[in-house]
Amino acid sequence: MRRPLVAGNWKMYGTRQSVDELLIGLNEQHWPDEVDLLIAPPALYVQQCREALEGSPLRLAGQSCAFQAESGALTGEISPAQLRDVGCEFVLVGHSERRSLFGETDEVVCRKFAAALACGLRPILCVGETREQYDSGETADVVGRQLQAVLDTFGVGGLAQGVVAYEPVWAIGTGLTATPEQAQDVHAMIRARLAVLDDEQAQCVQIVYGGSVKAENAHALFEMPDIDGGLVGGASLNANEFGAIARAA
Ligand code: 13P
Repeated sequence: MRRPLVAGNWKMYGTRQSVDELLIGLNEQHWPDEVDLLIAPPALYVQQCREALEGSPLRLAGQSCAFQAESGALTGEISPAQLRDVGCEFVLVGHSERRSLFGETDEVVCRKFAAALACGLRPILCVGETREQYDSGETADVVGRQLQAVLDTFGVGGLAQGVVAYEPVWAIGTGLTATPEQAQDVHAMIRARLAVLDDEQAQCVQIVYGGSVKAENAHALFEMPDIDGGLVGGASLNANEFGAIARAA
């Protein structure tokens, strides 16, 4: 009953030329019908992607957004309304790189989630524990806290208007993927936590996995009952590999 979702997060990679090349490759892929597909290019290249992807099932996402919906004096920021204006339908909020390198707290992430929803964007709430937290058995606490910040304001129904991405920090860009069983455990824990509050809505929330997803490991991950797809970093910069990952969902 949940549609799989596969998203490519290009992070701060690309030039106009390399983006053109990647888009040509993406337009050569055979995309599955039954999967929600999206890419999150650097904001500067969203327009370029939109034009090249006319008629493609690939949807556009922002990588982050400002914490307020309306325009304002926020130098360097991009509002969710502006992302929407250039054709984005989704936005990542609380990516671990934003949390760790730009000091985004749960409170800020929650405001971004709110601002995105207010503009009709579907926020993709990223959660996940660091290596130290994993080693000391704090995964459930950390992920629970990150979710709770949004649940307190929006409940499970609000969360279900977005997407949850579980990305263990120790698996991001390291080549160390969580095993399908490790990831499934956390996804099941997340869903169980939501189900306590609202079982019906909890079954509808798309929970995707991120952290060194590749064509070779995607199928085993996506086969797990609570893993509804992936948030792909490095491997999404290769059109054929991203295509293969999408087809594995
Ligand atoms: P990698 O797939 O490169 O590990 O990145 C994951 C990620 O951070 C996606 O948001």
